[in-house]
Amino acid sequence: MSKFENWELFDKISNVQLNDKIKDQLDKYFSFLISENQKYNLTSIVEQEAVFLKHFLDSLFFTNIFKLENQKICDIGTGAGFPGVVLKIFFPQLEVHLVESNNKKINFLNELIKILDLDNIKTHYSRAEDFCIDNTEKFDVVVTRAVSELNIILELGAQLISLNGHFVCLKGPKAEEEIENLKGCETKLGLKFEKKDVLFDEFLGTRINLVYKKIAHTPNQYPRQYSQIKKKPLGK
Ligand code: SAM
Repeated sequence: MSKFENWELFDKISNVQLNDKIKDQLDKYFSFLISENQKYNLTSIVEQEAVFLKHFLDSLFFTNIFKLENQKICDIGTGAGFPGVVLKIFFPQLEVHLVESNNKKINFLNELIKILDLDNIKTHYSRAEDFCIDNTEKFDVVVTRAVSELNIILELGAQLISLNGHFVCLKGPKAEEEIENLKGCETKLGLKFEKKDVLFDEFLGTRINLVYKKIAHTPNQYPRQYSQIKKKPLGK
């Protein structure tokens, strides 16, 4: 399989530092993702350039506006590892926790972690709303991509974040509509909208990353039962 060459896009869109180790890890990640895709149903994006840009690069570019160092970070609904595994590759000093409710994907992630020889990264086979019961305020950062709309995902993850920590949501063009639907209800969870980053790119389309800061403890009543959240999301 030929190797990905279009690295200049990583330089143009993100400010991450590339090196040979990272390039090698991403090549291995791509090969394993494609070889296991039929078994685990991981992604509909399979073409090499598209995986590198729409999965790997898309997982990263929020780091232009949000500094990652050695935080303890939790990716909820990580799927095949986006963005959590990609972040660990580029920022090896992070402590990364991957929460995923599909056991097949957890098996894939455990194998992937071994293949990429990553340390200080852990998978959790759980639903986010259950995971937060024993992990209240354990993380500096919660990050999520393509799991559910803002008025649901913020409720699922807010309890996990420590005071003054952050919730980063990687979103597409519907982010503005989702913000409207939320009607400012992030404050009920102790969250305050901090900033957003909008990218219009020919290949990636419109990408909108949102950052919330946790300024107060999330009340114990959150998250509610998932059936209740679905029936009556915040703001409805
Ligand atoms: N974040 C990945 C990405 O951007 O490619 C995966 C996105 S995929 C559309 C959504 C993933 O979230 C699925 O793997 C699903 O099993 C998981 N998921 C959905 N609800 C969840 C929950 N409440 N807790 C944990 N995982 C959840």
